[in-house]
Amino acid sequence: MFPPIEKKSPAEIKIFQEEKLKETLHYLKNHSPYYQRFFRENNIDVSHIKKLEDLQKIPVTTKDQLQQFNDDFLCVPRTEIIDYVTTSGTLGDPVTFALTDSDLERLAYNEAISFACCGVQKEDVLQLMTTMDRRFMAGLAYFLGARKLGAGMVRVGSGIPELQWDSILKFKPTYLITVPSFLLKLIEYARQQGIDLKNTGVKAAICIGEPIREEDFSLNILAQKIKVDWNIELYSTYASTEMSTAFNECRFHRGGHHHPELIIVEVLGDDGHLVLPGEVGELTITTLGVEAMPLLRFKTGDMVQAYSGDCPCGRNTLRLGPVVGRKKQMIKYKGTTLYPPAMYNILNHFDQVESYVIEVFHNDLGTDEILIKICSEAVSEELLQQIKDHFRAKLRVAPRVEFSTTEAIRSLNFPPTGRKPVSLIDHRK
Ligand SMILES: [Zn+2]
Repeated sequence: MFPPIEKKSPAEIKIFQEEKLKETLHYLKNHSPYYQRFFRENNIDVSHIKKLEDLQKIPVTTKDQLQQFNDDFLCVPRTEIIDYVTTSGTLGDPVTFALTDSDLERLAYNEAISFACCGVQKEDVLQLMTTMDRRFMAGLAYFLGARKLGAGMVRVGSGIPELQWDSILKFKPTYLITVPSFLLKLIEYARQQGIDLKNTGVKAAICIGEPIREEDFSLNILAQKIKVDWNIELYSTYASTEMSTAFNECRFHRGGHHHPELIIVEVLGDDGHLVLPGEVGELTITTLGVEAMPLLRFKTGDMVQAYSGDCPCGRNTLRLGPVVGRKKQMIKYKGTTLYPPAMYNILNHFDQVESYVIEVFHNDLGTDEILIKICSEAVSEELLQQIKDHFRAKLRVAPRVEFSTTEAIRSLNFPPTGRKPVSLIDHRK
């Protein structure tokens, strides 16, 4: 599956998106209680928005607004809703997302072309290592996408290395869909059980939730560690419930490819204007073709860099680099701007660090403080010093690091209601 629009010139892609934008604005004006009021209050005549540049005339939509006016974003009667999912909100309660039959079809199409970007074909079998329930959109999207491609899927769910290996050996999946750090757990289990990692039949892993690359697209420490023991291809995928769209790498690994028929991308600086190509800014999206809860200029909170120019795979679409961090997780520490993923990368560098959690809080002066708790069998002042030195070398500043117990960190990493492991606890609110 290779949508023809992806090989068109950037100018043709822009014109194509502008047609889709007009349809979306018209749809919002007719069906969205939230945007009807929004257009009225902001004196916006949607017929005047013709070019992608004109989007700048429309104020953005924030996560707080989505949460506060959640029901008003719904464009269809309740009877048209097939699937309900939730995503974490900024104000405590989760935000509800609803999908119609047509939205599920769009989601399936999105995931099918995204998988295809990672080389998945009908002959492949994918092993799903994320949950499909718990009101989670992604797991369902992966299943629908594989089905649309005609590929097979083994739905194992998250965790349980024993069951994962049993399924790998029994069903011979060629692709794994997983949080990349979980691959380290699988490698460890394989070692203990004498499973030969060179003869598993697994070709690649599609990695969700955690970055596997540096900003220059080289493999980060986590990915390097995986590949030393298990030399499979690693593909990054980036998606969110609000976007209902994925950005997957192709085999040239130069960022996640944009699907122009599904979403409009803007990368905005603090001043609300587009940043220059390659600069870090907040990803702001407009969904295309969504029926139940379309979003216009929605600020995702993810800080990214976008790249243009043709890719050797033949696609001319924009590509998103690894997520640098969440805007609200931005830490100003001793005059330096830090994002948690860069700190994870440093901690992952140390084999002696078995697990860790990063806590961020405001100190008495109201500025950010960082406390990193680590667990290691090799408790020593020397290790602490090595970690701090590595922080200074890579990020110019060294936060406080202290030892904790396996149990204490485990309980912080895996809260009972969570769907994903937690590595950052942010007490600043
Ligand atoms: Zn490509």
